[in-house]
Amino acid sequence: MERCYILFGSNMGDSDQIFAQACLLINNRCGHVVQVSAAYESEPWGFEAERWFLNRVVVVETGLAPEALLQQLLDIERELGRVRHPEIEGYASRTADLDVLYYGDHVICTETLTVPHPRLHLRRFALVPMCEVAPDFVHPVLQLTQAELLQHCPDEGLVRRLENEE
Ligand code: ADP
Ligand code: MG
Repeated sequence: MERCYILFGSNMGDSDQIFAQACLLINNRCGHVVQVSAAYESEPWGFEAERWFLNRVVVVETGLAPEALLQQLLDIERELGRVRHPEIEGYASRTADLDVLYYGDHVICTETLTVPHPRLHLRRFALVPMCEVAPDFVHPVLQLTQAELLQHCPDEGLVRRLENEE
């Protein structure tokens, strides 16, 4: 079993409800969801979008191999993407994005999968929820904790923790 950190992102549709569905599907198909971060809203990164993103980190104990885990996540993304909201049409906006941030302390680089996620240390919207769930977890390549990565992160994008979250 490996402990994996998955970043959920959504800025289209009912993001809270889509997250709840994503969590159930991850728990059914990928392994045991052991922890979920609070909800954060973050400024779109690298493009103009109509809506801010909802971001949350999901911690999963999985018996799946990395490629099998990715395949499940891509299937879940696709299924949740079927929720159509024709009133919202944003360039690169999405109902559900599921990225593998870490797969234990494995370093993976294949055509379809790069772990740790290659841009995670550049993105406050990934590091802020990571710091909530695992501030002392060490990035296996950069050899810095999540808290240290956040301190060194050049990203100035706003990330706000939403209140009234369990
Ligand atoms: P992004 O998440 O960078 O905005 P996409 O979700 O559209 O972009 O990209 C999905 C593709 O990225 C997947 O088809 C997958 O093969 C590839 N990929 C590479 N590394 C990872 C990773 N660590 N987590 C998720 N997808 C990854
Ligand atoms: Mg993705």
